[in-house]
Amino acid sequence: MGLLHGWQTCPRCRTPLEGEASPLHCPGCDSTYYANSAPCVSALVEDAEGRLLLARRAVEPYLGLWDCPGGFLEEGEDPLDGLRRELAEETGLVVGAVRFVGIWMDVYGDAPDAAATLNIYWAVELEEGQPVAADDVAELRWFGADELPTTDELAFSTVEHALAARRERRAPDAA
Ligand SMILES: [Zn+2]
Repeated sequence: MGLLHGWQTCPRCRTPLEGEASPLHCPGCDSTYYANSAPCVSALVEDAEGRLLLARRAVEPYLGLWDCPGGFLEEGEDPLDGLRRELAEETGLVVGAVRFVGIWMDVYGDAPDAAATLNIYWAVELEEGQPVAADDVAELRWFGADELPTTDELAFSTVEHALAARRERRAPDAA
């Protein structure tokens, strides 16, 4: 299972690879291939009334389920640059100040070669713009605290974790 699932020959020189799982080694050109978790960035976007912006997925995996706006980082990309890029691509929104929320692990779907993902969440304030769904988002919707989708309507377990962290922060201080 994972990123190197099904790899049989070296993509550089086509020699059969050695090893059962990460790392795989090529005896032909001495390349070694490691499977790492793919880094993803996501945003908890709130409006002035405290409603949360969620995005309904237009692509597999989990097509039709609700997700936080965000996506995979590009190679070498600064995480916050990636967050701003994904928000612009998927919603047209411009991100202002951000606050770190947490990091959670997940898997991108259930295919044998599904990538393990490392998901970084920030709560973001908006600088400007009205959300308009684009890219791999079918629909954007603002949800009040009592209107949020149920667990089986959420795309990824990381969204559940991030929503739980948000609930904790918003809960009245019992101390
Ligand atoms: Zn090779």
